Amino acid sequence: MTEPSVPKKRTTIYLEPNLHNEFKIICFREHESMSEKIEKYVARYVAVHMKGNPQLHLTPFIGKTTHTCFRCEGKFPSLIKVKFISGLIANVCSECLASYKQQTTIKKVLGVTE
Ligand SMILES: [Zn+2]
Repeated sequence: MTEPSVPKKRTTIYLEPNLHNEFKIICFREHESMSEKIEKYVARYVAVHMKGNPQLHLTPFIGKTTHTCFRCEGKFPSLIKVKFISGLIANVCSECLASYKQQTTIKKVLGVTE
């Protein structure tokens, strides 16, 4: 709770009893109320989901030619050109590149698109 002066909106949620009990035990152990934990979760969820993929919403502000990521199909001002082990060459965003690198499917990073 970062803004204790802001009055909270009271609400009711329904949880499966065992889930509720386990959640309560964990909250007690971590010295945090169930409300605080749920509020943090909801705040994070809303921040991520309120405007869809945040990269997609950069486009109108950038005002430049955009490139579409091969993997996530997000629009970016520039992308990283990579060659896959399969021989396929494609442009991907940095997040997708990181994900591909974990899967070790990238053979070589070729450069950056303008
Ligand atoms: Zn991507």
